[in-house]
Amino acid sequence: MIVLSGGTGTPKLIQGFSNTEMSDEIKVIVNTAEDKWVSSNLVCPDVDTILYLLSNKLDTSKWWGIKNDTFKTYHQLQELGYEEDMMIGDMDRSTHIIRTSLLSEGKSLSESINSLRILFDISTEVYPMSDDPISTYVNTDKGTLHYQDFWIKEKGLPEVSDVWIEGINEAKISPMALKALHNDDRVLIGPSNPVTSIGPILALKEMRDILEEKTVLAVSPIISKKAFSGPAVNLMKAKNIEISSSGVASEYKELIDGFIVDVRDDCPLSSFKGDYKVYREDTLMTSLNASKNLARSIINIFDNLS
Ligand code: GDP
Repeated sequence: MIVLSGGTGTPKLIQGFSNTEMSDEIKVIVNTAEDKWVSSNLVCPDVDTILYLLSNKLDTSKWWGIKNDTFKTYHQLQELGYEEDMMIGDMDRSTHIIRTSLLSEGKSLSESINSLRILFDISTEVYPMSDDPISTYVNTDKGTLHYQDFWIKEKGLPEVSDVWIEGINEAKISPMALKALHNDDRVLIGPSNPVTSIGPILALKEMRDILEEKTVLAVSPIISKKAFSGPAVNLMKAKNIEISSSGVASEYKELIDGFIVDVRDDCPLSSFKGDYKVYREDTLMTSLNASKNLARSIINIFDNLS
């Protein structure tokens, strides 16, 4: 099974797969449209969350960074009057340094991430969605901001009028991800932000054509008009997507065979319009057990769909 992932909701679900006999069942394609160069190093927030999660290093209190990391370099730079756009831990920074060194030696982003995966002793395959540079920007009442500046520096507070992705029209699916997609019939669209996490992956050239041939199941990141976390609601509003599970489903309707909504969601069945089945499951992943249960239900649903 191929899992399409952002950096918070879907990683929680991947944690459910990776701690069970199902760990060999998944390969992960990760959003890179939130990547940013910081102090000459390429930071890939969503990819790194997956790498740290799968190597048991992730700080799961925040869902980014390495647990028990220190921030000495970040603070020293600050004291010297050099303000970085993101708060980067010392151990986390070493990942960015290795990736950037590999890139400067001529390796592709997929190859660099694959090397990090091997260094971290991770058996699950992890691919960036593309090797090409892609950046998400938001138009706000404070001007046009890189997604990371909007979310981290500005704490997601500015009013958003539009979201757009630089480089997406020229970008190709990374060769390793493409090969994995060709070798697998099942694709899971994880519970991630449909605009800035899943949106860029689906916007890649040929991606929709490939997914149309697959059995695709998606999990809603929205429950009863609210996001579990993050800025999804504001970004969906800016893209005129209805703030509901059925709004998310309608974004994916040409691709999906099944859609999972939370048991607590108040969307009526009649609001889901399209040629796909709707399943109600407990999707609130507040514990490892909850993530494992949802992972198991997903395997059962795929068996039922294929
Ligand atoms: P980002 O890359 O950090 O923006 O993270 P993602 O896009 O991967 O995840 C953000 C989305 O995950 C938000 O829309 C949340 O509503 C959703 N999310 C977070 N936790 C959960 C959860 O436990 N269950 C479900 N269904 N969605 C969740």
